[in-house]
Amino acid sequence: MPTAVKYRVALNAPVTLADPDRLTSQSSTISVQNLVHRYENRTALNGVSFDVGRAELFGLLGPNGSGKTTLFRILSTLMVPVGGRAIIMGFDAAKEPNQLRRQIGVVFQAQSVDIKLTAAENLKHQGHLYGLHGPALDGRIKEILGRVGLADRAKEKVETFSGGMQRRVELAKGLLHHPTVLLLDEPTTGLDPGARRDLWQYLAVLRDEEQVTVIVTTHLMEEAERCDRLAILNEGNLVALGTPAELKQEIGGDVIWLEAARNASDLASAISARFGVEATVIGDNEQSRIRLEQEHGHRFIAELAEAFPGQIQSISVSKPTLEDVFIHRTGHRFWTDEENQDS
Ligand code: ADP
Repeated sequence: MPTAVKYRVALNAPVTLADPDRLTSQSSTISVQNLVHRYENRTALNGVSFDVGRAELFGLLGPNGSGKTTLFRILSTLMVPVGGRAIIMGFDAAKEPNQLRRQIGVVFQAQSVDIKLTAAENLKHQGHLYGLHGPALDGRIKEILGRVGLADRAKEKVETFSGGMQRRVELAKGLLHHPTVLLLDEPTTGLDPGARRDLWQYLAVLRDEEQVTVIVTTHLMEEAERCDRLAILNEGNLVALGTPAELKQEIGGDVIWLEAARNASDLASAISARFGVEATVIGDNEQSRIRLEQEHGHRFIAELAEAFPGQIQSISVSKPTLEDVFIHRTGHRFWTDEENQDS
C-alpha cells in the first residue's frame, strides 16, 4: 500500500496519495470508461474503455488523428470529455482534477523547460508549484537529476543540452513530486535512436523499481512493442487491446504480401477462388498490394507462384507485426502514402 508523502502543493493543499478504498479495484490504477469526445461535429473519441493496472507500461498506439492526444488531455485533466469517465487512483479526472494532479506526472510533447535556466533551476520552479521548498526540494532535485543521468549537469543551462538531455529534464520535472502515474505524450519525438532507447529503458526502470504506472502515446510500432500492453486506436475507436504478443497471435500464421504484375483486384479474386483464402487489396491504384494471412506461408507462396505464373511481380512472407494487427482490425494500413513512420 502506498504511504502518504509529506510535501505540500500550491494553494496549501497537502499531497497525499489516494485512499486505496476509493479505487474501483486494486488491480486497476486507471479505468477509462466509455469515453466520448467531440470537437463540434467531429468525433475524436467514440466510446473508448480500458483498464490499466499498477506498474504497467501501457501504450496508446494509433495513427495521426486516431484520438491519442484527446485521450491524453482527458487523462491529464486538461480537458473534460463529452461522455464517459476516466478514473485514476480513484479520482475522476473531470470532477476531481486538483486531487488527481497531485497523483500524476505529465510530460507533454511540447517543450516546457526554460532553456535559459539551468536544469536545477527548472526543477526548483517546478518544485515550488508543488509546494516543495528548502532542503527537501534540494535533495529531491539532486536525486531526480541523478536518476535521469544529469547529476553532473545540474548547474548548466538547458540550452546547452542535446535533445535527449532536454527530454530528460522534462521527465525529471514530471517525476519531481513522486507521482504514482506518469503520462507521456509521444516522449521520443525528435530524439535520435540512442536517446529513444535510453528513455524507454528508463521507463521500464520506473515501472520495475518504483512501481510507477506509465502511459505513453506513440505512433511508432517499435515503441509499441516495448509496452506491457497496448490500446490501439483508429478514428476514435479502440480497435485492439492486449499485450503485443497476444495481439500478434490473433493472426493465424504468416502474413503474405503480393504485388500483382497487372491488376491487383483481379489477381486477389483469382487467388481467393483458387485457394479459398481471404485475399485483400490494400492501398489504391499503383500502390495497391494484396495481403493474405496463411499458416506455413513459405509453402503457400510456392503454390501461389506455381498457380499464377507471370502474374505476380513480387512476393514476401513474414511473421505478423503490430501493423498487421492494425490492418487485420481496420482493413487499412497504419500509414497513408504521404506519411512516413520515421517522421
Ligand atoms: P492524434 O493525437 O491521434 O493525432 P487527436 O486526438 O489529436 O488525434 O485528434 C482526433 C481527431 O480530432 C482528429 O480528427 C482531429 O482532427 C480532431 N481534433 C483534434 N483537436 C481538435 C480541435 N481542437 N478542434 C477540432 N478538431 C480537433
